[in-house]
Amino acid sequence: MSFLDGENDKFSRNRIEECPKCGCRNSQEIRSVFKSDFSNLDKVLDGSFFDFPCEVCGTIIHHVYPFLYVNYNKYVTIQFRPPYTTDSNAYYKKVLEHTENIRKKLLEQTKSTNRKIPKTKQVTTLYDLKEAIFLGEDSKINAKYLKNIKSDIAYQSGLVKRNVFSSNLYFIGRDLDQLKLQTNTDNEVISIPITLFKQYQDKYITKKNKRVNTITKAYQVLVSVVVIAFIVLVILKKIMNI
Ligand SMILES: [Zn+2]
Repeated sequence: MSFLDGENDKFSRNRIEECPKCGCRNSQEIRSVFKSDFSNLDKVLDGSFFDFPCEVCGTIIHHVYPFLYVNYNKYVTIQFRPPYTTDSNAYYKKVLEHTENIRKKLLEQTKSTNRKIPKTKQVTTLYDLKEAIFLGEDSKINAKYLKNIKSDIAYQSGLVKRNVFSSNLYFIGRDLDQLKLQTNTDNEVISIPITLFKQYQDKYITKKNKRVNTITKAYQVLVSVVVIAFIVLVILKKIMNI
């Protein structure tokens, strides 16, 4: 038994959703928590988990609701909140409650180990969620400079010519020595070698270091000027006194 086993079932309930075509009231099972080992997680992440047919006319109803994603082994908690969720949304309140409870349990669990629990990330789209899961669970990928690196990838791979920009790209996983990204324009998955990712990353790390070096040098020069001016003043004062 792993930590909090069976929590997926405990957090499920039903909600009534009206069919947009015939107006019939349909019951949708909603879950406020999805664990990393949930059997249908792929469907949750591609959105198809939230599709269900109207019992009367068969129209596919798509209703995505707020939930909490939890990976207990990696101490990752991510709150998914679609943009139209309001704070008065009863299900959203439940999700917030569960977030609190689960974080409390995680804290209790880690008290003896002194392990830090990362903050609960908040995301509003399933693409962001996929990326947040990947970044939260893959300790080897540094989340810094991702926006710049995505921009490089979009230009270098010719995606920009097809109107796919850095803001349309999401890191979603790794496959051996390749990193996988997905576009939110047509769900295309592209791969780049990790070595190329590191090259892009090094470029920004070096740039930042250079900037820090310039600031350090400017500071050193300023200190030297002040020290020299002080010495000159002291000497001048002595000469004047004589
Ligand atoms: Zn219907």
